[in-house]
Parts: sequence; structure tokens; C-alpha cells
Amino acid sequence: MTTVIERQYRLRTLFDGQSLIARMHAKYPLLGCEPLVENATMKLHKKYWWSIAVVVVIGWAFSHSRLVALACAASKSTSHFVPDGRESRVLYEPGSEPLARVVSVALPQAVRTIEEQQYRPFSAPVRVYVCATLDSFEAYCPGARSAAGCVINKRLFLSPKLEATPERVPRIVTHELSHLHLQQRVGAIQLHLAAPPWFQEGLAVCVSEGGGAESVSEDDARRSIAAGAHFVPEKSGSLFFQQEAPAYRLSHHMFYRQSAMFVDYLRTRDERQFQALLAGIDSGQTVGNSCASAYGCNLDDIWREFLAGVTTKEADAETQLAPR
Ligand SMILES: [Zn+2]
Repeated sequence: MTTVIERQYRLRTLFDGQSLIARMHAKYPLLGCEPLVENATMKLHKKYWWSIAVVVVIGWAFSHSRLVALACAASKSTSHFVPDGRESRVLYEPGSEPLARVVSVALPQAVRTIEEQQYRPFSAPVRVYVCATLDSFEAYCPGARSAAGCVINKRLFLSPKLEATPERVPRIVTHELSHLHLQQRVGAIQLHLAAPPWFQEGLAVCVSEGGGAESVSEDDARRSIAAGAHFVPEKSGSLFFQQEAPAYRLSHHMFYRQSAMFVDYLRTRDERQFQALLAGIDSGQTVGNSCASAYGCNLDDIWREFLAGVTTKEADAETQLAPR
């Protein structure tokens, strides 16, 4: 039979490992329950290490399966895509001819826009692949079924869902070309290491005049930032742990719009320094390092400057709207 003290002690031990042991030894030196204490401690330690092991295995399996899916997609053949008669840089799967025609019309201007606004030519021929079904699109762009387009391993794919919103095509093509341009010049892996999602997406939305962030206006984004719901710019990227919209509890369009506003702030603050920033990334530097050498100050300082400007502008807008 266990005494009341032993029962209380057993319960408390489960919630408070090593520190409680020391206290019980001091308080009840004659209790003679060291084995019980040791067992409880061992259980806690086992639980701890098992939890860590489970997290590590789940993380490994997740990143491994994602890695396998990306590797398969990156090497998947596109030989069945047919070049469009009007624009040979656009290739389509049989069944997606109408969308391919709209893309062919938009492509030349989109290419000019990117080369002008990202200050350099494409370093390899441009190819745009128009998919006929969502399944096909997802096979080339794993995990991006709801996206309008994606660039993977220097190949640009467009989703058939754009057929329903042809007016978005010029902006989306320009947005995806921004990614293709950087991937061609920097290399897919190096780009992900050097430039975090906020920079890549912000630049793409910025140069495409809102492509990919259409459902969130600058006013919406400003209100969100002023209320404290915003991303925080990382200085470098990562291959497996990219900080995207969910990491900041933002919708994708909100994350894209806020990122674009900050990239635009970097550009309008001083365009020559912005050019130097892109030149640094072009040579493989991280956004943080390139920003420091281009602007002569830390990215965090410029971010604080941006936040202060947005907050002031939002306060002014609220004052003007307030009833008098
Ligand atoms: Zn994008």
C-alpha cells in the first residue's frame, strides 16, 4: 500500500523531474523511495528522447519525400509539348492551345519587362510550358496545384486554370519569368540559399505590377503591417525550411503584396543601390550581405525604416477618414 505522501510524491514527480528529486531528498530523507524517483526520471527522459526521435523521423520523411518529388519533377520529360506556331518559345500540351495562344501574345513584352527591370538579359533561351490539366501541372510542380505557375529547375510551367482568367496571363507570365531569370543566372540551388521567399516573390510581384498578389491591395497590406501582422525579412534563404506565408500566418497574396511593397521600397529608396543589390545576388551573395554592401547599412535598419513609414502613412490615412 502506498502512503498519502508517496502518492502525492509520485504525482508531483511526473510533472517536475530532477528539481523535485532534489527537493524530496531534502524534505523526506528517510522515505526510502529512490527507486521510484529514478523510475519516474527515467520515464521522463525516455519520453523526451522518444519525442525528439519522432520529430526527427517525421521531418526527415517529409523533406525526403518532398526532395524525391522535386527531383522527379525536375527531370520529367517535356518532349510531348508542342511549340506554338506563333511563338516557338511557348510550348503546350495538346488540349491547351487556347491558353498557349494568349501566352504567346503576352510573352515578348514580359521578356522585355524582366530584362529591363532586373537589369540583365536572360542567360539562356526562354521556354514556357503550358499544361493541359491540373494533374500534369502538379506532376511538374509538386505541391503547387493551386498556383498559377511555377519555375522548377530553370523550367517555367503554367497551370490550365489561367484559361478561366486570361486577363491575368500577362502579369503571371511576367511574375514567373522573374523567377526564371534569377534561376538561370544564379542557379536554382544557389538562388534558394541566397534569396529567401520574401525577396524572390516580392521582386516577381513588383516587376509584374501585382502578378500573384491581385486579391490584396497595397492599402490592405499597409493596414495589416501597421497592425503588426507582417512578415520579417530574412537575410538568406534555405533549401528545405523556406519561410513562406504560413510561417508568418499570412495568406499567400498578403505575403506577396507585403514583400513587393518592401522590394519596391528598396528600389525607390535608391535605384542605383537597388541595382547593386541585384548585382550582388546575381553573383551568388545572400540578400543580407548584398544589401549591406549596396546600401551601406543593415537590411534590418532599412526594414525598420520601411515599417515606420508604413505606420505613419496608415495613421495619416486613419486621421483623414476619422469623423470631424
Ligand atoms: Zn512566385
